[in-house]
Amino acid sequence: MQFKSDTSEIQSYLEDTSAIQGGYASGVYFAESYSEVSEILRECSRTQTRLTLSGNGTGTTGGRIPFGGAVLAMPKLNQILSIKKNSDGTGTATVQTSALLYDVQQAVEEYGLIYPPDPTERFCFIGGTIANNSSGARTFKYGATRNYVERLKIALPSGELVEIRRGEIFANNSNKLTFKTENGTRYEVPVPTYQMPKVSKHVAGYYAAPNMDLIDLFIGSEGTLGVILEADLKLLPKPDRIFSGLIYFADETNLLNFVNEARERSRRAQSLTELSARALEYFDKFSLNFLRPKYPQIPAEAVGAIFFEQELTDSTEDDLLQAWLGLMETHSALIDHSWIALTPDEQQAIRDFRHALPAQVNEWYAKFKQRKISTDMAVPHHRFPELMKSYQTKCEAAGFDYILFGHIGDAHLHLNILPKNSDEAKRAKDLYRDFIREAISMGGTISAEHGVGKLKAEYLVEMFGEKGIREMVRVKKAIDKSLILNIGNVIPEPYLAD
Ligand SMILES: Cc1cc2nc3c(=O)[nH]c(=O)nc-3n(C[C@H](O)[C@H](O)[C@H](O)COP(=O)(O)OP(=O)(O)OC[C@H]3O[C@@H](n4cnc5c(N)ncnc54)[C@H](O)[C@@H]3O)c2cc1C
Repeated sequence: MQFKSDTSEIQSYLEDTSAIQGGYASGVYFAESYSEVSEILRECSRTQTRLTLSGNGTGTTGGRIPFGGAVLAMPKLNQILSIKKNSDGTGTATVQTSALLYDVQQAVEEYGLIYPPDPTERFCFIGGTIANNSSGARTFKYGATRNYVERLKIALPSGELVEIRRGEIFANNSNKLTFKTENGTRYEVPVPTYQMPKVSKHVAGYYAAPNMDLIDLFIGSEGTLGVILEADLKLLPKPDRIFSGLIYFADETNLLNFVNEARERSRRAQSLTELSARALEYFDKFSLNFLRPKYPQIPAEAVGAIFFEQELTDSTEDDLLQAWLGLMETHSALIDHSWIALTPDEQQAIRDFRHALPAQVNEWYAKFKQRKISTDMAVPHHRFPELMKSYQTKCEAAGFDYILFGHIGDAHLHLNILPKNSDEAKRAKDLYRDFIREAISMGGTISAEHGVGKLKAEYLVEMFGEKGIREMVRVKKAIDKSLILNIGNVIPEPYLAD
């Protein structure tokens, strides 16, 4: 096992894509085996040294940025251990924590399978995506990472190992989760009593529900409860083909009506010949302006665009193309300027377009050394138009530059405010807090997919109240008795001192 402390060698481990500055650590451990991970955890627990877990650093909320203690990285635990295909066409991949999502997706496709979770950024580690319960464009059809994790091998903060299989351990009637480690230590964890918001995506705070499965506690817990070492991932049959579209609109009402109809028809679809999007993504006019230097072909009259993907077979292709063209005509899309991609290369070009936006936004924040002000709230579908209007009117009234884009199919957009100076940055942060409160009052979540990390821990209190946070603290203390792991993530630190 290596330990590096030279600043030039560890600087990248003090950062992620949140642009949070000031991370520091005594050094980075590079563990090459599960037993080395256990050894480091045991030692940190014994000495009460904080340990921050590192994936590939693509997270957007400062989750892997350490503020004290040491960092644990596991880049060599990156093997795809097996891929199995079942007779019903589904499959299972067994992977180590630092397997790249991109590599897993490529490898399973060779078996005629797909791993559906697809955060737009594919150069993240599987462990990072499980820790964050990541989701993305295809979540509209397939749901988030949680739905695809069947087994986890975890190193607990004590260094003990535990295997958790979905469907084996559930919360009992006293609302406790009880499990034993490989060497027989018994843990008892009180399940929080708060209600999770009724939205299609939610990753803020610990998962909690009556009779919940133990595995769901660890998924989305942002590295605060254990180190994910290995996972069994559920795979689905790969669709024969897909086509995708980037559809421009000259009128925002038409665009929103197009989305509503596409969403409703997708949810109702019963047969393979009926229109059923697997992704429905939005770009506002400012997002298009942001992308214009790289994509000059964006039509001048466009005030917004929708990216969709549709799965198909040879026999359904004509019906589905007609259905989408009909929908575009009904809602007056700029059909002649829109981009329908039938080949994998063209589809990748549209995905690159989709990915270029958040990537360029992150670069903008880094370049201007501004702390990222990016919403990740989702609300119940019937409240979504109100929240979207509020984003637009309040940002315009405040004179902010902003862009609004993302997973409109799931009533979940990212508003990024781009402050031009420190006064605007302060006012933008205040407005962000207003939006958080508005989303919570609508029954929404403060984080639909990026997680809480360090950036949003203070807002979790607004969402779950002090009682909810204290219930999370009890979960944390039941598992991380020495309070060493990913301190500062999810739970605001002062609450851990109680
Ligand atoms: C351009 C861009 C677009 C994105 N789009 C989306 C999107 O559409 N949807 C979405 O959900 N996300 C999106 N993301 C963020 C995405 O969630 C993260 O990229 C990913 O989940 C983190 O993986 P990582 O390996 O980079 O982890 P890191 O950033 O290194 O870490 C993330 C968190 O996981 C913890 N962690 C890492 N490894 C482990 C482990 N082995 N055990 C326990 N905890 C661990 C870390 O401590 C940290 O808290 C986007 C990011 C970028 C840069």
